[in-house]
Amino acid sequence: MEGKRTGFRVRWGDVLLLCGILLLAIGLWLALCLFSSPGAVAVVTLDGEEVARLPLDTDCQTDIQSSYGTHRVVVQDGTVAVTEAPCPDLICVHHAPVSRVGETIICLPCKLVVTVMDGNSVRLPSEGRSQQPVGQAPDRWVGQWKEKREVSL
Ligand SMILES: [Zn+2]
Repeated sequence: MEGKRTGFRVRWGDVLLLCGILLLAIGLWLALCLFSSPGAVAVVTLDGEEVARLPLDTDCQTDIQSSYGTHRVVVQDGTVAVTEAPCPDLICVHHAPVSRVGETIICLPCKLVVTVMDGNSVRLPSEGRSQQPVGQAPDRWVGQWKEKREVSL
C-alpha cells in the first residue's frame, strides 16, 4: 500500500513535469505566432520603388508594367502570388504563394519584389535604399534570393 502511494506520487510528478513542458511548448508556439503574424498587405516594388499595395483580405489582382513586360500579381485566399511574368526563368511564377509577414517573392531579372507586411507597417524594409543608382540590384535581395534558392533546391 505504502509502495503504491509512493509510486503514485512519482507519477504525479511526471505528469506535472509533462504539463510544464507542454505549457512551455504552447508559450513558444504563441511567441512564434506573434512574431510571424499573418500578413495584411502585399507591397509590390519595382526597382526599389513601390508600385502597388494590395490588402490580403480581399481577392484581387494587378498588372505591373516594367520595361521587360507585364507581371500579374494575384491575391487569393489571403495569399499573394505572381502568376504571369516576362522573365525567362519564371522563378517568381513558380514560387509558392506567400502570406506571412516578411515573406517575399522576388523576380530578379525584372527587379520586382512582392513583400508581405503587416497593416501597421508603412515603411518598407528597403526604405532608405531608394538613392541607389537605377540598374543595380540591391545586394541584400540578391543574397536572400540565393539563400532561398539553396534552401528550396
Ligand atoms: Zn520573374
